[in-house]
Amino acid sequence: MAVTGLPPYDDANVFARILRGEIPCKKVYEDEHALAFHDINPQSPVHVLVIPKGRYVSIADFSANASDAEVAGFWRAVGRVAKELGLEASGYRVLTNMGRDAHQEVPHFHVHIFGGRSLGRMLPRES
Ligand code: 5GP
Repeated sequence: MAVTGLPPYDDANVFARILRGEIPCKKVYEDEHALAFHDINPQSPVHVLVIPKGRYVSIADFSANASDAEVAGFWRAVGRVAKELGLEASGYRVLTNMGRDAHQEVPHFHVHIFGGRSLGRMLPRES
């Protein structure tokens, strides 16, 4: 079932270009379902992005339209990457931005893994 109200997938987005090898990335993990690499503009000592290999705009698109194997494979990769980054003892945060209010910049579903310092509690207060 197609999700309505979402933009179509744009094959020119930067993460699609990374997946095609047109743009380099600092890769930390790759398997059949997922690619993980360091964010180009890190917000914490460890800031890694995990993306599915399929063409999904956002978590709304991914959760509605990806296969069970893609969903399971992706989330297993997220946990595995965090563990391999050595973040389990100290803790980490997983975040995804979806759409306008969340200021999603790149229209290919991804999660951020933040760690390596105390991250504070949830969202900053609106100024
Ligand atoms: P969003 O706001 O969409 O959740 O976050 C997109 C993230 O992608 C940002 O943290 C940004 O720094 C990162 N990013 C944008 N372009 C590139 C790129 O070319 N390479 C890498 N590694 N990260 C990128």
